[in-house]
Amino acid sequence: MSLLRYSLKTLALTSAMVVLAACQSLSGLLADNQATLATSQQTPLVILVHGGAGSVRPGGMPENEKKAYRAALKHALETGYEVLAKNGTSLDAVQAAIITMEDNPLFNAGKGAVFTAEGRNELDSSLMDGRDRNAGAVAGVTVVKNPILAARAVMDQSPHVMMAREGADAFAKSQGLTIVPPSYFSTEKRLKQLERARAAAKAKAALPASSHFGTVGAVALDRDGHIAAGTSTGGMTYKRFGRIGDSPIIGAGTYASDTSCAVSATGWGEFFIRGTAARDICARVQWTDANIQDAADLVIADLKEMGGTGGVLALSPDGSYAFSFSTQMMFRGVQNDTGTDIYIFANEGPHVGSE
Ligand code: ASP
Repeated sequence: MSLLRYSLKTLALTSAMVVLAACQSLSGLLADNQATLATSQQTPLVILVHGGAGSVRPGGMPENEKKAYRAALKHALETGYEVLAKNGTSLDAVQAAIITMEDNPLFNAGKGAVFTAEGRNELDSSLMDGRDRNAGAVAGVTVVKNPILAARAVMDQSPHVMMAREGADAFAKSQGLTIVPPSYFSTEKRLKQLERARAAAKAKAALPASSHFGTVGAVALDRDGHIAAGTSTGGMTYKRFGRIGDSPIIGAGTYASDTSCAVSATGWGEFFIRGTAARDICARVQWTDANIQDAADLVIADLKEMGGTGGVLALSPDGSYAFSFSTQMMFRGVQNDTGTDIYIFANEGPHVGSE
C-alpha cells in the first residue's frame, strides 16, 4: 500500500516537473518572441526640416541656388538624424538640425537673418519637447549666435517659457552662450531686401513677397517614441516697433506633444498666431479622426481663407508625417529609416501644397 502511494506520489511529482519545464520553455519562447517583436517594431527614427516657404516658381530660381539649398537641407537632416541614430533625444536632434541652418546665411535665421525697418537683426526662436510639453523661447535677441540655444537655455535653466529682447540677450550671456556683435548676422542679400522693402514702404506699395518668408524649423521622433519641434527666424523684413512673429510663440509657430503631434511653421506669422496654427493641427490629430496630412491641410487652408500663406511640417509619434503649404514653394526634407527626400517646389514630393 505504501509502495503504491510512493509510486503515485513520484508519478505526480514527475508530471508536475514535466509541466513546469514545459511552461518554462514556453515562457522562454514567448519572451524571445516578444524581444524579436520589440526589435522589429522599434520606433522608427524620423526627422523633418524646413527652410522657409515663399512665392518663387521653379523657373524663378537659378540652378546653383537650388543646389545650395538642397545641400543645406541635407546637411541639416543628416546632422539631426545622426543624433537620433546615436539614441539621442528628438529635442537634441531638432536643436542640432536648426543650428546648422542658423549658421548658414542662406536662411532667414541666425547669420543671414532679415533686417528690421531700423536696419537691425532681431531674432526669434522656440523649442518644445513632446515628452512633457516643456518649452523655451526667445524673442528679439540681437547678439546670441544661435537663438535656438537661448530658447533651450530658457527651457532647461529657468522657470520661464519665454524671454524677450535685452533680458533674453542678458540671460543668454549669463548662460555662457556664444555672443557675437550684431554685425555678425548681416549679409548683402538681406540688406538689398531691406532696401527694396524701404522703397516699397516709401511708395506706399505692398511689401515684397519675400518679406514674409525664410524661417527654419525641424520636428523629430526618437527611439523612445518622443517627438519634439523647434523653429528659428529673423522674422519679417522691415518689421517695426519690436514686432514678434509666430516662430517663438508656443502653439502658433511651434508645438509638440506626444499625445498628438509636433509642428514647426513658416509663413506670414500674424496669421499663424491668430489661427493658433501649430496647436490647431495637433488638436485635430488628438481630438478628431483626421490623419496628420488632413489636419495640416485643413489648418493651412483655414489660414489662407483668413489671408495668410505659409506652410508647416507635422510629425506624429507613430512616424507618420506631413508637409503642407499654401505657397509656391517650401524648402523641406525628411530623413527616416528608409532614406532621405528633399523638395523645394509645390509640384515635387508626395505632399503637394494647396497653392
Ligand atoms: N513666420 C515668420 C514670422 O512671421 C516668418 C517666416 O516664416 O519666414 O516671423
